[in-house]
Amino acid sequence: MRAFAHADEALHDPQFFLMRGRLRANFEVPARAASLRAGLVALGVAPDAPPPATRADAARLHDQGYLDFLASAHAEWAALPEAGAEVVPNIHPAPEMLAQTRTTPAHIIARTGQFTADNACPIGPGTWAASLSALGCALAAADAVAAGGAAYALCRPPGHHAYAARAGGHCYINNSALAAQRLRDAGAKRVAVLDIDSHHGNGTQGIFWERKDVLTVSVHADPARYYPWYVGFAGETGAGENLNLPLPFGTGDTEWLAAIATGIARIRAFSADALVVALGFDASEHEPLAAVRVTSDGFARAAVAISALSLPTAICQEGGYAVDHLGPLLHAFLGAWR
Ligand SMILES: [Zn+2]
Repeated sequence: MRAFAHADEALHDPQFFLMRGRLRANFEVPARAASLRAGLVALGVAPDAPPPATRADAARLHDQGYLDFLASAHAEWAALPEAGAEVVPNIHPAPEMLAQTRTTPAHIIARTGQFTADNACPIGPGTWAASLSALGCALAAADAVAAGGAAYALCRPPGHHAYAARAGGHCYINNSALAAQRLRDAGAKRVAVLDIDSHHGNGTQGIFWERKDVLTVSVHADPARYYPWYVGFAGETGAGENLNLPLPFGTGDTEWLAAIATGIARIRAFSADALVVALGFDASEHEPLAAVRVTSDGFARAAVAISALSLPTAICQEGGYAVDHLGPLLHAFLGAWR
């Protein structure tokens, strides 16, 4: 299997993270990519380094004003008096505010609140370059499989929580969504995104909410107790095609694989002719938060089941924060892919 990774993804090195009122070290760290690379090496796969994506590539699904913000936010922030090291929101516009004004403020603090969903997406000096490098990997994987087969994109930062005009949950540019769009643009008439990260793929759902040509399926821990808290519940559909399969806390291999089988059946019924797998390893039993408790064998069995669809498949890395386990889990998943 071909794989894609870029050294510049390490330029994103976020520090800020707030958990239950405590300031913690951010766990979306460059060491994640090193562990995943080791998993590829163990498989005998040498990843190619594709050129970073362009801003125009990102604009295929993201808003121009949002991309302006991502590109310049850190420099604007650094010019503030007594600025912290990273861009982190301290206000978000409330619906009541937006209902009463037609002014779109230009100040960096206002735009930070506007363009972020939470404070789990700090922007540092290397975030924009890393995000374009991650997207370059996702698009290269999509291009590599347009005529068939499967390819893996080691995307960091991840992307599935990013909306068209909003960062959130460690995500800035939605790599999986843009890979799906790339497959559409290459001629696939119907594309499915199967998201097996332990968090709901809310950004991807949001981007394709009104689209009938892209089916979004997400298997994740119940948002009643877990990020992203407000979406990811069963039965959410817009004008487009969407299936959410939330699972109780502590779910193990059997129920997780059954939900994936339900998702696969929906993908078959949709008659998808290309697939994006949003691959998060935070469903692993080894995760610090461990909302779902999937074993290495469970991930291997998921790969067998998903690859049986025999669709052109771009596999995009999403979450997974038990750094030492990421390489072995990737080895298990890609090693089982048929
Ligand atoms: Zn996740």
